[in-house]
Amino acid sequence: MPLPPAADPAMDPWLRPRLRSWLRPELRPGLRSILGRWHLARAVIRGNYGVRPSPFKLTFAVTDRCNSRCRACGIWHRGCGEELALGEIDAFFAANGGFSWVDLTGGEFFLRPDCREVVQSLLARMPRLYHLHIPTNGVDPGRTVDAVRAILRLSPPWFTVTLSLDGPPALHDRLRGVAGNWESVMAVHEALSPLVRGRFRLFFGLTLTPWNPGTLAATLAAVQERRPRVTLADFHLNLAHRSGHYYNNAGAGDGDLVFPGSGGVSPAAARLAEAWLGDIRLLTAARRRRFDPVDFLERRYLAGVERFLRERKCPERCRSLALSLFVGATGEVYPCIIWDRPLGNLRESAFRLGPILESPRAREALTEIAMGGCPHCWTPCEAYPTLLGNGLPFSRRGGAPLEAG
Ligand code: SF4
Ligand code: SF4
Repeated sequence: MPLPPAADPAMDPWLRPRLRSWLRPELRPGLRSILGRWHLARAVIRGNYGVRPSPFKLTFAVTDRCNSRCRACGIWHRGCGEELALGEIDAFFAANGGFSWVDLTGGEFFLRPDCREVVQSLLARMPRLYHLHIPTNGVDPGRTVDAVRAILRLSPPWFTVTLSLDGPPALHDRLRGVAGNWESVMAVHEALSPLVRGRFRLFFGLTLTPWNPGTLAATLAAVQERRPRVTLADFHLNLAHRSGHYYNNAGAGDGDLVFPGSGGVSPAAARLAEAWLGDIRLLTAARRRRFDPVDFLERRYLAGVERFLRERKCPERCRSLALSLFVGATGEVYPCIIWDRPLGNLRESAFRLGPILESPRAREALTEIAMGGCPHCWTPCEAYPTLLGNGLPFSRRGGAPLEAG
């Protein structure tokens, strides 16, 4: 099983302090971004051609605390549990410093009082980091804006914040279960927009659920009344999924209307899929007008949605566990956010992923993924590394896992 590379332990203590003193502070994030891009490109090439591929993308739910009450998600029912303490998170980052792309999520990540310190540890321990992504519900605008400002002062390389927005004002507040959430999201957007420049990006993230089909245009129109410069290109779309270990909504109703579904495609599900596809096509057309690597990836994701809705199978050879993985708030490691297949806990492996990823359980899971034996999904968190890992010419597309064993 390939492992995420450690962060050059021999060279790091010597090189990094010298780089820090040689370079002007304002150049450091730029240099870091260049190095991070190079490491990400190398990891993608290795993933495509089976040359010692290793996970380069980490999705880490740092907390299960959430101040939202979303209809499509049950994380807020769970409570915070024995989540990893800052020292444990630091030990985890220190022992597995080779990730290029990290999503710090929740729950609501910014509810952790030490969220700034978590990012500080990430930046110190992961010299190869290229992209940091944090989604937020914007329920507490003051806390969110202060935390993002504090993180920006840490000079991360590429940094993206996604503000959840699931419809026009009344619908959004109803689906999110929090009165006034639309207004608070607008307040966060207004406060953070002036900071968008260079390597900092801000998006809206709309999750397509059975309760908001075909609302993208109305959502944009409502946003533009408050934020006239926002366009469709400022939106990301996601399909609502269910999972026991992450969203805590595995037993939720609505049968095959939330993925992975219960099997066949009912007439109601087919009608819903058509409405979702209207939104997908709208966004695809907007993204087609721009030339940007993120837009390119997004277009490929959106193109995959249509196939996923038709076939209910991951439209690409899934590369979870080979190129990406998920760590829950209590340190449990999984192949992805959807498949409830625990592989081991960081607390039992001295916070090293190596023993967990080399275990028979992980090898079995990798083989099952390659054989299509997982529940199947198409969510951006997992689809992006899969698209990157399959996207180069003559990429190895066989069914067998790369370098398993
Ligand atoms: S979707 Fe996000 S904001 Fe909503 S309950 Fe789940 S974790 Fe909280
Ligand atoms: S296709 Fe399967 S293994 Fe891959 S991300 Fe989805 S559920 Fe997980």
